Amino acid sequence: MTKITVAKGDGIGPEIMDATLDIILAAGAKIEIEEIEVGEKVYLQGNTSGISTDSWEIIRRNKVFLKAPITTPQGGGYKSLNVTTRKFLGLYANVRPCKSLSPFVQTKHPIMDIVIIRENEEDLYAGIEHQQTDEVVQCLKLISRPGCEKIVRYAFEYARQYGRKKVTCFTKDNIMKQTDGLFHQVFDEIAREYPEIENEHWIIDIGAAKMADTPEAFDVIVMPNLYGDVLSDVAAQIAGSVGLAGSANIGEECAMFEAIHGSAPRRAGQNLANPSGLLQGALMMLTHIGQTEVAEKVQNAWLKTIEEGIHTYDIYKEGTSKQKVGTKEFAKAVIANLGNKPNTLKPVSYAKNTTLHLPKYQRRPAAQKALVGVDVFVHWAGNNPDDLAEMVKKIENKNVKLSMITNRGIKVYPDGFKETFCTDHWRCRFKPVENKTISKNDIIEVLSNALVENIDAIKTENLYSFDGKDGYSLGQGQ
Ligand code: NAD
Repeated sequence: MTKITVAKGDGIGPEIMDATLDIILAAGAKIEIEEIEVGEKVYLQGNTSGISTDSWEIIRRNKVFLKAPITTPQGGGYKSLNVTTRKFLGLYANVRPCKSLSPFVQTKHPIMDIVIIRENEEDLYAGIEHQQTDEVVQCLKLISRPGCEKIVRYAFEYARQYGRKKVTCFTKDNIMKQTDGLFHQVFDEIAREYPEIENEHWIIDIGAAKMADTPEAFDVIVMPNLYGDVLSDVAAQIAGSVGLAGSANIGEECAMFEAIHGSAPRRAGQNLANPSGLLQGALMMLTHIGQTEVAEKVQNAWLKTIEEGIHTYDIYKEGTSKQKVGTKEFAKAVIANLGNKPNTLKPVSYAKNTTLHLPKYQRRPAAQKALVGVDVFVHWAGNNPDDLAEMVKKIENKNVKLSMITNRGIKVYPDGFKETFCTDHWRCRFKPVENKTISKNDIIEVLSNALVENIDAIKTENLYSFDGKDGYSLGQGQ
């Protein structure tokens, strides 16, 4: 018996959760349920993250959390419960299988069977955003080596455990050489440890186009957070419907399982919603807690039910479907099929033990880190970069000199193009004078000089090299 935390959520949540629990309990799931309340009601009671301290205690104690979708109230000030849960509990891997059920659920991609493994904690989701000038705001994209190693290793271990043949990595490292570059580099490093699994890397734009057009060319795809967020919805939709896909959020200690769709408030309370997405999440949960036989039994009964054309409204199609049913009737049909296997669709057969054993992240010895320059960001409402350069040169000191100015990343000084559009946000790069080194004192002096010269320095970024390799990108056009 495994104790799990259950939240029935908002909108269609309670209906699809009841249906899901009915099915898995009827199949013999050995679970003890501890229910908590999260979501809209909790938000509206004044709790900005939609969950109480007591509920956190329960989730952390039980470690396995089955969550129905929740409604985030409109208006500012409410934090996404999903993002908070993933990050608080260190649920670094988001696993979303997307498989078509052709010819029983309409899709343009009848032989699609992919698993998207999305990094779940980093990237632009760190939520570190600032307004720096009248015209410019920024969002920090944070990518860490442990984050990359954990997710990429998870993808390969998943492929190995589930008999998948290939792992593909999507990034945009032709543009984001440091952040996406690290993700790609770690992918290549770890891929070498799994010679039996094919590996490849695609630039995300053409990779996404290929996935939407020819998903059968892919097997497991691993990617940073934002790309994974977008593309897993695309993958679920082109497989048949977002209403059919479940997702697992896996951490070293805890795990959360859910449907990928939201709370569909307009469908709530009408016995209309398809419980399949949450059911798929619950089956991943059963696999996670070692109850693979139950998961297998339910999945085959579910496939059989889909195959029989017993469909909820969202996947119902004249001609293909046989019977349009509500949430409860669908659950009853799946329960009636427990023990049966599909005839046309491939029955599933899960290995007894699908637990993934991932090594703990090992920190590497620190590299030789040297300060090699500084970028000083300046708020200035002028137009001519040469004028700004004249001003900024006044804040140089004996060790560091202005080497370049960029605007939105494009080099505008020296030798800029007059056609380049400029905002009021300028990055002024200072590098050491020949045969000199730079220290933090030089940076402080440059900033003090800026104060005297009335230059509005809004932030600095130190430029470092690590073991002699530059840890920063060049200006575009440099
Ligand atoms: P949604 O996924 O709730 O609905 C999108 C469309 O899909 C609607 O037409 C809906 O009727 C349909 N749909 C979704 N699930 C269905 C199901 N199981 N059966 C049949 N049809 C289904 O997305 P939305 O309308 O953008 O968001 C509604 C609320 O859900 C918002 O408050 C949003 O913040 C929240 N949300 C929560 C989660 C989560 O808790 N994981 C995820 C996404 C959105």
